[in-house]
Amino acid sequence: MRFISTRGGEQDISSSKAIINGISKDGGLYVPRNFPNIFKDFKDKTSLTYEEIAFKVIKEYFTDFNDEEIKLAINGAYEKRFKVELKNNFLELYHGPTSAFKDAALLFLPQIMGLAKKKLNLDEEIVILAATSGDTGKAALEGFKDIDGFRVMVYYPKDGVSPVQEMQMLTQEGNNLRVVGIRGNFDDAQRGVKDIFGDNEFKEKLIQNKFLLSSANSINIGRLIPQIVYYFYGYLQLVNKQKIKFGDKINVVVPTGNFGNILASYYAKEMGLPIAKFICASNENNVLSDFFKKGIYDKRRELILTESPSMDILVSSNLERLLFEASGRDCNEIKNLMKDLSENGIYKVNEKIINGLKDFYGNYATSEEVYKAISDVYNKEGYLIDTHTAVAYAVLNKYISETRDETPYLIASTASPYKFPRSILGALGLELSGIDDFEVIEKLYNFSKVKVPFNLKGLNNKEVIHNFICECNELKKPLLDFLGIIND
Ligand SMILES: *Cc1c(COP(=O)(O)O)cnc(C)c1O
Repeated sequence: MRFISTRGGEQDISSSKAIINGISKDGGLYVPRNFPNIFKDFKDKTSLTYEEIAFKVIKEYFTDFNDEEIKLAINGAYEKRFKVELKNNFLELYHGPTSAFKDAALLFLPQIMGLAKKKLNLDEEIVILAATSGDTGKAALEGFKDIDGFRVMVYYPKDGVSPVQEMQMLTQEGNNLRVVGIRGNFDDAQRGVKDIFGDNEFKEKLIQNKFLLSSANSINIGRLIPQIVYYFYGYLQLVNKQKIKFGDKINVVVPTGNFGNILASYYAKEMGLPIAKFICASNENNVLSDFFKKGIYDKRRELILTESPSMDILVSSNLERLLFEASGRDCNEIKNLMKDLSENGIYKVNEKIINGLKDFYGNYATSEEVYKAISDVYNKEGYLIDTHTAVAYAVLNKYISETRDETPYLIASTASPYKFPRSILGALGLELSGIDDFEVIEKLYNFSKVKVPFNLKGLNNKEVIHNFICECNELKKPLLDFLGIIND
């Protein structure tokens, strides 16, 4: 398998290169030359394990590596650390070390990056820089923990993440990791990291010291491919539970931010998985919802901070890959659209693309609707969902009442309710005042008796390992400290 850029500048890139580069030199995203259709191979094999399905899917794309290497990478990522469960129509993707679905991608990426690094004979140590609003940083730390040849530096806004998220990061063990709180907000953190990536002189200095900067953000093809796996897995579970027959169509419902998760379901369909509709659920940052209604992507609006923070985003980077397919792989058109977006903050797609997007439905849910979804699902089914999953559930209901579509569906359930316990307790109408987040977890458990994930239990009593703070315009200093480079 070879990879090409959505903007046409690169046409023949190996999987190792695509994984290490992350983003194409022309600013585009790497996509596979074609999508192998493997769905029929799963007939009469519906009881395959998650790891076995992962092997079948992943080996089609990362062909620089042999079967043994791919199997080792998969086991290294998931064994005893991550699993997916289907509860009714909710595909729970959060049974991993960080209790959110990003583990599916970020446990695998370091494994495949390690292989790619060897394949390309890179002898520099790779330093992953991440600015995080909470979830990605922790997932990257867990994924890269003690992986040879890699270090991770995470910057987070000191007063801008939840206490649970902060403790998850500050108590992180592993001898190749560092977490630094910055005095500023998430945008400051992100800008600081971008500045470092753009500073050639600084990067040269790092290279002289045998360090190569890289990122683990969600446009990396090494993160996207492993996300295809759970759509196959979820589908086969629906077959096993006799909710559908092999070959029946389903709809998928995905709470969407950067468009990685829902794009993975689209890639699954390209590989033959029978998906009828892609229901793209947004929170009040409803850029995508407007886009699927009008064909106009307009990011010129204020970012709203919601209770589904991992979806608070105005530019959904992975949408570029969908537009590429919908346009019939017209890289010139994609280049124009992305130029419009960066210069004017808006673009309008042509008829051909609109036609290519007809299986997508977009809508959004307000805070009130999210609260109502959480309490409805709990009161009707005794089942707890988190705020992100609740966005999906609320949008699904809008879709069904508009269309009366009775196709069976899968809802991507992206985080444990215990990750956002305050919102959940509020939605259920319980008293919140005067108790901290860890007491809120306790209270939610006593109320619901839903098990608290192992990694969140006792978190408040764990030892703080990372005790570093910096000003938002001085991000290089703690990085040099961490790498042991003397700053002259
Ligand atoms: C990242 C995230 C999302 C959004 O996923 P994308 O792939 O960015 O669209 C949804 N829910 C949770 C809990 C997340 O962490």
